[in-house]
Amino acid sequence: MSEQKKIFLQKSEEIAFDLKHRATIKFNMSKYDAAVDRGMKRYSNLDLAKSRASYIKSLSINNLHEYLLQFEKNITANGASVVWAENTEEAIEAVKKILIENHSKTVVKSKSMTTEEIDLNDHLEEIGVESLETDLGEYIVQLAGEKPYHIVTPCMHKSRQDIAELFTEKFNTPEGSSPEYLTAWVRQKLRSKFTTADVGITGANFLVADVGGIALTENEGNALMSVSFPKIHIVIAGIEKVIPRMRDLGLMWPILAAHGTGQQVSVYNSLITGPKKPGESDGPDQMIVILLDNKRSQLYSNDDQYEALKCIRCGACLNACPIYRNIGGYTYDATYSGPIGSVITPFFKGLKEYNHLSSACSVCGKCTEVCPVKIPLHHMLLINRRDAVRAGAGGFIWNQGMKVYEFALSKRSRLDFMGGKTKKMFTLLGANALGEQKQIPRLADQSFSKQWTTKK
Ligand code: SF4
Repeated sequence: MSEQKKIFLQKSEEIAFDLKHRATIKFNMSKYDAAVDRGMKRYSNLDLAKSRASYIKSLSINNLHEYLLQFEKNITANGASVVWAENTEEAIEAVKKILIENHSKTVVKSKSMTTEEIDLNDHLEEIGVESLETDLGEYIVQLAGEKPYHIVTPCMHKSRQDIAELFTEKFNTPEGSSPEYLTAWVRQKLRSKFTTADVGITGANFLVADVGGIALTENEGNALMSVSFPKIHIVIAGIEKVIPRMRDLGLMWPILAAHGTGQQVSVYNSLITGPKKPGESDGPDQMIVILLDNKRSQLYSNDDQYEALKCIRCGACLNACPIYRNIGGYTYDATYSGPIGSVITPFFKGLKEYNHLSSACSVCGKCTEVCPVKIPLHHMLLINRRDAVRAGAGGFIWNQGMKVYEFALSKRSRLDFMGGKTKKMFTLLGANALGEQKQIPRLADQSFSKQWTTKK
């Protein structure tokens, strides 16, 4: 068993029985469920909208190289520059180079999972650059010294009391301060940071090929502020974020908002098409877009799994997943958690070390059902399990057990050959895999077909 799997099992066991965690997640998820339920009702034909969104992302992914080159050509013509980074090291090196060359000491950052993927803040700290998260949720987890718990709502695991206590501890704010008070307090504090920062770093919800622009969608205006004030704007985005046309945003922005937070559309939607032009008063002097591969090409070359690159990071599959709801975001030990994280993490961090994530799934199919771009997530998790066994990545006992299982189940007569007692014995052998809290179902002494024949 890999070390990661051992830790995963141990953490799952602990967190699933942590009643405070359970109550916080239940409360926050109930708010999400109600909002998303209202959001879905706004669509007269939700399935058609999802089919169209799926088509746009399929078109993008199937012609990835063409749209990326078109994006590069157009945004370069608008005055920005593009850096292609094959991995984390190249992306970090590119960012450091820009900061060092421009003697930059302070960065304001808007929410971006791609920058979490490369641990950007830790690397900036190494060269003495202060990097401040400006999304409220990200600001809170940074303050607590934690990583985002969820790809859309980074501090979903914290209650309002937890957050009030954190602010009192760090800033001596009045005990039990309300969310409204703390939001206003943070807004005031961040204002001067935006206006004095040397560099603004954002991700991109979409890279729009036909106009050469990056599309940002958010609710706090902090991404727009991070782009508007500093003299340098750095964008770090995965290569899968490209979409063909600006008009696609008419569908993609609302469908992302509806599935992410239940909104009709997020509050601030910006399309940034390059740095400040002569005569313009706002915007950076320089804009650099770093296009990150980081094993996405490897995923792309896998015929069974490349569709995972269609993901628009709405978080809906995490919220729908009964496993995520029980074990929470940190247990996955990965930037991307929940069903989509369980599909892609073995590609990003190693099949041998992380294939167990694909087994943390009851195959209920809810993730596939809610996905706005129709990624067959539960099917992909099964493919990951198959590939792990084929690659011998699941450990000796697991791999041999799966081979016996496959042999027995692939023919009815083989399955019926074993009586109920033998099946019970095998079931009990696998009992530990289900954990101490699970009860093994009672099997009949005879198979159904034997009972049927006898009774006839
Ligand atoms: S896989 Fe689908 S549901 Fe999950 S985050 Fe991506 S787009 Fe959303």
